[in-house]
Amino acid sequence: MRLSQMLFVTLREDPAEAEIPSHKLLLRAGYMRRIGSGVFSYLPLLWRVLQKVSQIVREEMNAAGAQECLLNQLQPSELWKESGRWETYTKAEGIMFALTDRQGRELGLGPTHEEVITAIARDMIRSYRQLPLNLYQIQTKFRDEIRPRFGLMRGREFIMKDAYSFDADEAGMKESYRKMHDAYHNILRRCGLKFRAVDADSGAIGGSGSQEFMVLADAGEDEVLYTEDGQYAANVEKAISLPAAVASSPYKKFEKLDTPNTPTIASLSELLKCSPTLILKNVLYQVTYDNGMNVLVLVSIRGDQDVNEVKLQNELSKLASEYGGSAVIGLKVPSEEDQQQWAAKPLPLGYIAPDLADSYIQKTKNLATKFLRMVDKTAVELKNFVTGSNESGYHVAGANWGKQYELPKLIVDVRKAMVGERAVHDPKQTLQSARGIEIGHIFQLGTKYSKAMGATYTNEQGEEMPLVMGCYGIGVSRLAQAAVEQSYDKDGIIWPVAIAPYQVIVTIPNINDNDQVSAAEVIYSELTKAGVEALLDDRDERAGVKFKDADLVGIPYRIVTGRSIQQGKVEVVKRASRETAEISIHEVVPTIKRWIDEAMNGDKNNQ
Ligand code: ATP
Ligand code: MG
Repeated sequence: MRLSQMLFVTLREDPAEAEIPSHKLLLRAGYMRRIGSGVFSYLPLLWRVLQKVSQIVREEMNAAGAQECLLNQLQPSELWKESGRWETYTKAEGIMFALTDRQGRELGLGPTHEEVITAIARDMIRSYRQLPLNLYQIQTKFRDEIRPRFGLMRGREFIMKDAYSFDADEAGMKESYRKMHDAYHNILRRCGLKFRAVDADSGAIGGSGSQEFMVLADAGEDEVLYTEDGQYAANVEKAISLPAAVASSPYKKFEKLDTPNTPTIASLSELLKCSPTLILKNVLYQVTYDNGMNVLVLVSIRGDQDVNEVKLQNELSKLASEYGGSAVIGLKVPSEEDQQQWAAKPLPLGYIAPDLADSYIQKTKNLATKFLRMVDKTAVELKNFVTGSNESGYHVAGANWGKQYELPKLIVDVRKAMVGERAVHDPKQTLQSARGIEIGHIFQLGTKYSKAMGATYTNEQGEEMPLVMGCYGIGVSRLAQAAVEQSYDKDGIIWPVAIAPYQVIVTIPNINDNDQVSAAEVIYSELTKAGVEALLDDRDERAGVKFKDADLVGIPYRIVTGRSIQQGKVEVVKRASRETAEISIHEVVPTIKRWIDEAMNGDKNNQ
């Protein structure tokens, strides 16, 4: 392709709207345009990248035995009502764009396709002979994200590959899952990315086991905890660890302490010269269920630990039916305003004890009259601990479960694992932390959707059984930007060869020099003939501008037909390492071909 004929517009300045390097670079280099909040147009260069990523995804999915299809994006509300997700997806999480057609029927714009695929499976899969089955598609998804940001990283319209497997039983599903796990490794490796597969929370989508594929980059929104030995890696939302040992308590008898101005663990521990491991803190949350019911939750946890709100939400979801609901739609620390809605009297904030009286809760519509009390596992073992007194300015010390305080019946793991803590699989290993961009997520769904929507098959014994499902997503557009986030320098993008929009750029420093032009034309046409994807910078621009643009756009190899063509030579430059060499014109095509080949196969041997 000739640059003179392309829509090729680069910006010298960073666009004000862009927050992270990859977002800035893709805008500056003319890969995309922002059209609205979280909505981007993919311009020709980016479209080539996206098609390359899609093709790698497609090849690996096909190799794993999955079949490509294309499902509808307009999804009737009935399907989502069957699965029970209409309310949460349109209201609570609000992630689904919903609309009403001219006949007054409700529709959603597909944020994901479990409902559609399960409806198809229900209609078309009758017998165990049709199993296992895995269907996938590569398609635009719509999600009304609360905070669209970082360009393609969190868009409201983005490209996803989603796959859904159907098996006869749990063991079959695990095998389908394993195949996808391996396919994801191949995809990310072939795309030239540094990544890690981590244990993940299954979230609203439901099901049992799941893993995320994280592309490692400082700007990643997720925190990954892992051990050096490579045996453990998990999203912090899911991670487990061994907590620090508890200090021995100097408080042998139960006593009330005058502790003015100590509403935080840090201030209290400082005043008392007491280890935070000996302090029991009682954190107040307010949970809202999908039936509108609110419950005040008191979580007792060690002072040196923090509540992992994802784990807490999972625990609260399990209790939904006790409050007449089926899902959690909100979880927060109640603000002053919230407290005014229900508190019978001002709460002793910062000094709350595990037995804070239920009489603090005024009878209010849609509010449980009692605190839901739970204790984190690691706080159960505390002896002679320090905690609040339910009176501002005072704490108690030397307290014990079963004596001063009744141990809550709900003993849960809601503790946030922290960097530096010992690993569960081997206490000699400590948890390290890294930032990651979630590129893929694979789930063992089980029968959640097939049961809810009646998708069954007949087994060998003639019995009707629910299909056992898995689902597997990859953010194709997010992946393209993540590749940039992982690989750039001060001058621009450095694409991995496998997904670069073009492999080579032939730059003519001076288009008024006929020798330079004709040498470039010959090389360009030979490269093209040899199947190399080449750009020809034949614009009437200064050489410096062309070099800057080539660096910015990030094409892996550059060929310059400069002065040395008088000696039958051209300059070749590797974008990533900036290695430069002068080689004879005849060697250009085979050299470039060899480099491309080495880079693509080298990626294969990399990880
Ligand atoms: P996240 O936690 O980042 O919101 P998710 O858990 O909602 O992701 P899935 O529903 O598992 O994501 O979707 C599969 C993949 O689609 C994700 O792993 C991610 O790569 C991509 N993805 C999800 N939401 C977006 C988005 N708003 N913009 C771009 N890509 C996205
Ligand atoms: Mg999401």
